[in-house]
Amino acid sequence: MGSVIDVAIEEKMPCLQEGSLTGRKPTVVFVLGGPGSGKGTQCANIAQHFGFTHLNTGDLLRAESRSGSENGTMIQNMIKEGKIVPTEVTIKLLQKAMQESGNDKLLIDGFPRDDGSRAAFEAVIKIEPEFVLFLDCSEEEMKTRLLNRNQGREDDNIDTIRKRFKVFRESTLPVIEYYNSKGKVRKIDAGKPAQEVFEAVKIIFTSKSEKVNRCGCIIL
Ligand code: UDP
Ligand code: MG
Repeated sequence: MGSVIDVAIEEKMPCLQEGSLTGRKPTVVFVLGGPGSGKGTQCANIAQHFGFTHLNTGDLLRAESRSGSENGTMIQNMIKEGKIVPTEVTIKLLQKAMQESGNDKLLIDGFPRDDGSRAAFEAVIKIEPEFVLFLDCSEEEMKTRLLNRNQGREDDNIDTIRKRFKVFRESTLPVIEYYNSKGKVRKIDAGKPAQEVFEAVKIIFTSKSEKVNRCGCIIL
């Protein structure tokens, strides 16, 4: 702690215990992309294929909202409006899920959605993502997918979809730009069928999980 932003985070979130993954430094990959870009689908594939634990921030928030906790109604209303839930709520759930996962390879799906959440993760969790997988897809294609997916989600209606697109453009793209300036973004064309997209994803994760040992052999 120390910088202006860190102090602001400390004041706003006194309830968060900083660095409480107690010594563990798992590999973290953030998976970002607009609503309907296929984050959930690709994360499930990556988890199965590469042994990551998939932490879906939207699902964590929906579960918390259903649990009837004190924040439940607030979370439900924010999701219905396509708004970003206050960072301290999301990060607390994420921190708990990270602790409980027991895995040292974590895929964090749909987070951080804005600069505040990104800074809070850095200040509280203190782990730099290995890289950020950016599923790039046109709004036209994402809209078609969301309106056809029929998962009974309260936010998959045209009004909320428009709001979610706006939040993505205005708040999440700057996060992607931030990581891009650090050379951490791996962008793929996510407008194709899921299996084709996964072929591109596999290339990224394979090159990341290959390590050359001292004899020059590749360890997978
Ligand atoms: N959400 C949030 N913070 C997060 C992740 C999700 O506030 O870090 C909320 C937000 O209202 C978002 C909704 O949860 O619109 C659904 O998120 P999810 O990731 O499930 O949607 P997707 O982008 O995958 O369609
Ligand atoms: Mg999702």
